[in-house]
Amino acid sequence: MQLLKEKILSEGQALSEDILKVDSFLNHQMDPLLMKEIGKEFAKRFEQKEITKVLTIESSGIGPGLMAALVLEVPLIFARKRKSLTLTNDLVTASVHSFTKQETNTITVSNKYIEAGDKVLIIDDFLAVGQAARGLVDICSQVGADVVGIGIVIEKAFQSGGKDLREQGFHVESLAKIAELKFGEITFVEEKEGAPINV
Ligand code: 5GP
Repeated sequence: MQLLKEKILSEGQALSEDILKVDSFLNHQMDPLLMKEIGKEFAKRFEQKEITKVLTIESSGIGPGLMAALVLEVPLIFARKRKSLTLTNDLVTASVHSFTKQETNTITVSNKYIEAGDKVLIIDDFLAVGQAARGLVDICSQVGADVVGIGIVIEKAFQSGGKDLREQGFHVESLAKIAELKFGEITFVEEKEGAPINV
């Protein structure tokens, strides 16, 4: 998605060979016009899937997830990382190790909102080693819901998550795929030829 790649190049910062900082439009301040386009793009890529729910994880998945849900006209559910005083009954949980924060969270969803028979589109901001996506898949399988797609805003293709999830048979779509990060330098995977280009 060209608009997203341009935004990453103009505002993203490679903090190291592993971590991309995009606080100015995705992870802290959010750019609503970009989020709107992201929502439309996800809806287009998964339009044949008869999605009934979009599922994400707080907090950075909520923006793109909600925009996709808006276009698809289905509810968005976000898994919570912290215990909620009001979310008390019929909880489904999974364990997720955070790549950036190096901590393990128990994520929670009420089975009132994701049920057997649902066709779920999982959305997240980043895909690194795939722990967050796998936690959300785990929640869906516990309640008997079907994961029909995984939509990622930025995939770090040099990490294992995307390859692993695709090998497991999931339909993963990423709007920007990063081939390599070096301090101060961001290289995308060239989708058409399949060869990396330095933009
Ligand atoms: P995974 O579970 O695939 O290993 O990592 C995905 C999660 O970690 C995302 O939900 C995202 O919040 C965070 N994450 C992973 N890599 C990055 C990164 O390079 N930059 C930012 N900002 N977040 C990341």
